[in-house]
Amino acid sequence: MSYTVATIPGDGIGPDVVREAIQVLDAAGKVFGFSLEYREAPMGGRAIDAFGSPLPAASLETCKNSDAVLLGAVGGPKWDKLPGAQRPEAGLLGFRAGLGAYANLRPARLFPGLEGASPLKASVIGTGLDLLVVRELTGGIYFGDRGRSPDGESAWDTERYSKPEITRLLRVAFDAARGRKKKLCVVDKANVLESSRLWRETAKAMASEWPEVELSFLYVDAAAMELVRAPGRFDVIATSNMFGDILSDEAAMITGSIGMLASASVGGRRPDGRPGPGIFEPIHGSAPDIAGQDKANPLATILSGAMLLSHSLGEAKAAAAIEAAVGRVIAAGYRCADIDSGDPAEKIVGTREMGRLVTEAMLEAGR
Ligand code: NAD
Repeated sequence: MSYTVATIPGDGIGPDVVREAIQVLDAAGKVFGFSLEYREAPMGGRAIDAFGSPLPAASLETCKNSDAVLLGAVGGPKWDKLPGAQRPEAGLLGFRAGLGAYANLRPARLFPGLEGASPLKASVIGTGLDLLVVRELTGGIYFGDRGRSPDGESAWDTERYSKPEITRLLRVAFDAARGRKKKLCVVDKANVLESSRLWRETAKAMASEWPEVELSFLYVDAAAMELVRAPGRFDVIATSNMFGDILSDEAAMITGSIGMLASASVGGRRPDGRPGPGIFEPIHGSAPDIAGQDKANPLATILSGAMLLSHSLGEAKAAAAIEAAVGRVIAAGYRCADIDSGDPAEKIVGTREMGRLVTEAMLEAGR
């Protein structure tokens, strides 16, 4: 089997971490019998320098015509003074909108051995933390009607969701829960918001299709507290755009390191109705402060590569093998500087060495 993957290395540490993820993906292909053909698509600051646009039309086309997209990060001080629409981040927004991905998947997982990186006490983390936030990405208050009164003294933003928008997002969440620990918690503010009541009704009406999934509900304020009181109780959280924006960052922080966290944006369709390419990327930015110094942790991008295999290419076993390889490298005591706990038994390595270790662990699994 052969797949095409568009790669957007981007700026800062983006090219460094994407390079390592490609190595690991190729190793997974060797072990599991598939090949990946990469097509590089310039975007962000580098595209501004080369083509005068943060999102050249040809790059968007390359991505649309691929099976999946692997993205590093874009942006940096060099382009910070440009006007809004010409900045690298504008390219990113146009790109996500262009692919129509409406579901953002943000796993927050604490690998055994990294408990010390979490700001939470060991007694709170308990036996571990492994949850997934499924956030609606293209609707709700960030896209609703907004305005200012003529005198400028008041302003409004509107939270509006349709049943089809909620249904398609919850479908992704129910399916994800079925493939994990089979628990789905819908987070809303149904005691106050009418749109939240529609989320609840819709979830309840859908639940019979996933009888093996235990469905629960939590108000967003309670969910924010529970995430730091007992994060281990969660499996999959499904929620609206704004609540998901906030809770996914909270969940990320309790794992302790931005360099470990992967994400996926999925759900878009091709003109012929087939699923469109998902976008897989680390949650961190281009980290200009450590760019080109072999200091960036590539694991978030490597784990994004694992998500790419399972969500866009149907290579779930290869994805699980990458996650297991990362787990073994961490268990063996290897750390990038961002997850260094100060324990003298830990071995601090750079970007390239971490990529090589995971690639080796991956190839070893196939021997
Ligand atoms: P950032 O995530 O780039 O960096 C925040 C801090 O985390 C820095 O100290 C950085 O060194 C560290 N860090 C980030 N990734 C790391 C990794 N893999 N390994 C080790 N340390 C890591 O956020 P920022 O500094 O606010 O933004 C820098 C640039 O990135 C800005 O131009 C911003 O617009 C852009 N950005 C892009 C994306 C994206 O492409 N999706 C997301 C966020 C920020």
